[in-house]
Amino acid sequence: MLTNMHIAVIGGDARHLEIIRKLIELDSKVSLVGFDLLNSGFIGVERSSVNELKFNEIDAIILPVGGTSLEGEVMTTFSKEKVVLTEEQIKRTPSSCTIYSGISNDYLDSLTKKNNRKLVKLFDRDDVAIYNSIPTVEGTIMVVIQNTDFTIHHSKVAVLGFGRTGMSVARAFQGLGAKVRVGVRRPEHIARIVEMGMDGFYLQDLEKQAQDIDVCINTIPHLIVTSKVISKMQSHAIVVDLASKPGGTDFRYAEKRGIKAILAPSLPGIVAPKTAGTILANVLTELLEKDAEKRKEKE
Ligand code: NAP
Repeated sequence: MLTNMHIAVIGGDARHLEIIRKLIELDSKVSLVGFDLLNSGFIGVERSSVNELKFNEIDAIILPVGGTSLEGEVMTTFSKEKVVLTEEQIKRTPSSCTIYSGISNDYLDSLTKKNNRKLVKLFDRDDVAIYNSIPTVEGTIMVVIQNTDFTIHHSKVAVLGFGRTGMSVARAFQGLGAKVRVGVRRPEHIARIVEMGMDGFYLQDLEKQAQDIDVCINTIPHLIVTSKVISKMQSHAIVVDLASKPGGTDFRYAEKRGIKAILAPSLPGIVAPKTAGTILANVLTELLEKDAEKRKEKE
């Protein structure tokens, strides 16, 4: 249980509704910022603007999956309020206050480090990232279907990256009958890809591989689908970039060349917010309960 813990949920999307539900169920005191347009019927929660939030009473802050922008802005799907997480606010929190986010960036890293607050990046955890890859795959299939006039079956699909998302994407497209090849930089990844019945190639050969592919799905958060790679693609090819913003594609060049390139962030929150929210809520509450136990031991 999370009795006596005061948790602020600052911004977020439909996934956060599952998190809020679970926090209420576990008896924590919940303050919501950025949910004023939501008509959810959550009972016993406090809603306020970010300026009204009593940061000095907060034991944990839950941010959107994407954390903040490089300017500290927090995404609020259920509000028109511009919410910015500032250093002054973080300074007001008790020193034991933990900040939970999906991913981070320089702004959030430096804000928490400078003020000696613990930052937990949920997607650094393999279990969260692997579970999250399930709705990501379904969303990727949706984006490909919506943006092509050919079947996935028998099309040539290149998946770039073979991490927690890339592996799930590659296997799902293979299961749909696509001819999948996966671009990686490690020989052990090539071996695993071959073992799974797909083709593997090294990323330095991407330009050559790009010549005959129909669909390119990138999961590498670095510029990898460069103008040189795009220039080799067939005109009907599409690029679906799953990597976190700004993605790994030269979108400017793709547009100039007439190649459809789509940055597709936050797919789990779009296609399966309930499942994706439950994945996050389960892990978050496990971590918060551990935190609550530690506090009790100290008292
Ligand atoms: P991950 O497990 O860390 O996998 C990243 C992959 O990228 C690995 O194969 C890694 O290769 C490769 N890589 C990283 N830097 C590289 C570089 N400089 N050159 C070549 N390869 C490189 O990450 P993940 O959990 O799969 O997530 C991948 C991306 O997708 C992240 O940006 C994540 O935020 C995003 N994501 C998006 C969605 C969405 O809805 N769009 C959903 C989930 C995740 P090595 O193993 O060799 O390092």
